[in-house]
Amino acid sequence: CSYCGKYFAIPRRNTAEFCNLTVDENGHTCREVGAVKRWAEKKNSDELFKEYRREYKKRFNWIKAGKISPGAFYAWSATAKGKRDECTDGKMSFEKFKEWLAES
Ligand SMILES: [Zn+2]
Repeated sequence: CSYCGKYFAIPRRNTAEFCNLTVDENGHTCREVGAVKRWAEKKNSDELFKEYRREYKKRFNWIKAGKISPGAFYAWSATAKGKRDECTDGKMSFEKFKEWLAES
């Protein structure tokens, strides 16, 4: 189980990732708690990607407008990608990432 770490039997045709064995103090099984957690993670990374794309497009247009050089743009995008990955890995908060985007 990728939530509580216990081994459990996965029924055939089922790719269950969380068990139904452990129940927390609120009466929720790992499967329930885990599904909510996964959903939140997914949502978070979608938001992150959207934010990055928006900035990327904005800055890409700056090249055409002559506001920045292509070199500066590619340097920015490489750093931004690194920060985005740090964020995905949980090393940086989404808020911090947005702050960085706004400042850079
Ligand atoms: Zn579990």
